[in-house]
Amino acid sequence: MVSGKEYVTRVFEQVKANNSHEDEFLQAVEEVFHSLIPVFDKYPKYITENILARLVEPERIISFRVPWLDDNGQVQVNRGYRVQFSSAIGPYKGGLRFHPSVNQSIVKFLGFEQIFKNSLTGLPIGGGKGGANFDPKGKSDNEIMRFTQSFMTELQKHIGPDMDVPAGDIGVGGREIGYLFGQYKRLNGYQNGVLTGKGLTFGGSLARTEATGYGVIYFTKCMLEANGHDFKDKTAIVSGSGNVAIYAIEKLQALGAKVIAVSDSSGFVHDPDGIDLDLLKQVKEVDRDRVIAYTQKRKNSTFTEAKAGSIWSLKADLAFPCATQNELNGDDAKVLVENGVIAVAEGANMPSTLDAVAVFQEEGILFAPGKAANAGGVAVSALEMSQNSSRLAWTFDEVDQKLVDIMTTIYTNSAEAAKEFDLEGDLVAGANIAGFLKVAQAMSSQGLV
Ligand code: GLU
Repeated sequence: MVSGKEYVTRVFEQVKANNSHEDEFLQAVEEVFHSLIPVFDKYPKYITENILARLVEPERIISFRVPWLDDNGQVQVNRGYRVQFSSAIGPYKGGLRFHPSVNQSIVKFLGFEQIFKNSLTGLPIGGGKGGANFDPKGKSDNEIMRFTQSFMTELQKHIGPDMDVPAGDIGVGGREIGYLFGQYKRLNGYQNGVLTGKGLTFGGSLARTEATGYGVIYFTKCMLEANGHDFKDKTAIVSGSGNVAIYAIEKLQALGAKVIAVSDSSGFVHDPDGIDLDLLKQVKEVDRDRVIAYTQKRKNSTFTEAKAGSIWSLKADLAFPCATQNELNGDDAKVLVENGVIAVAEGANMPSTLDAVAVFQEEGILFAPGKAANAGGVAVSALEMSQNSSRLAWTFDEVDQKLVDIMTTIYTNSAEAAKEFDLEGDLVAGANIAGFLKVAQAMSSQGLV
């Protein structure tokens, strides 16, 4: 029998050969595979069953044309995707991303991460992801509606409440989910469990909007407390300024931390007095503006363009990358460490490069990987599905308490899995192993499908 290391290396070489141009996908796979080596040594039957080669191949990839008319009457065409990655433990579940960078590598890396994240929630949801290379920036409401309707006209053939349940991600929020839901309903009739992140008047769950950001902080709280720290009077950098960042900031402030910076793709805002969250919400959620607009209304704050400097050069105790993949590299990580960072928790999906993660781990910085720390969003999506199926609407506090319990369990399970495989404190390995084992057991039971 080959060793775990030999098996993992062999499968990874095949994955590289078969997906040679998909850098982000290979990066996500490499991180997970590396963590799983001891698991295959302990459970050689998963080598015999070739679980890894099966898991890394999406069950299905759908790619489609999305034609639409812009406000000038010009015909535009984008490419839409849905990757139905794994249904081993439940219907495909995961968000839709509308961003010009979306391509097959991006949706595959996100879908792959989603398998493990969803497994970690303890809820019965498989892994999927989708989106389009559509840029919502600068588009009118009408353009957004026409695009999303065209996108759903094709996507609706492939989804359903027990089949595949999309939700939001970058560029897809409440407005887009509303239009997507309307178009699905027009074509198929009312089935409210087909999408999550819906408006509260048509089957959405209280606390879904807050869930990813709050969940990151609940997870970080467990990690800090287990190591003798808390949030009181700590300074924090939160990159991004979307839904995840805003609600991470809200919970950080409620727990006594001071958030000194936020960002978007054009640059970062430094506010040494602490971010004024009402103003940030006005700028981002109401005005749908860029973060630079914040500095016009807040005297002591400054804006630095992305090409002129990095948000990670600021000094803080805690860092929360909540923007996008690969936004924090090895050099950024070294600067954070030099500046005395204690803990880093990922609100975005794969925001730290492999080099950055290595720096944090070598330096003994507490590090919470996204697939564990940001699982609160999809967890509450699964709670939205439960409420839809039972035709109930739980209170904010009921959902929030369930979210606290889920994030605490994810922390405990990840920390214990790491310990079990002699990797105490390594939450990257712990989350990958804990997420993997449930999926592997289900695949093993279901035979070659
Ligand atoms: N896009 C979010 C994520 O990365 C949420 C997905 C969902 O709610 O289905 O987990």
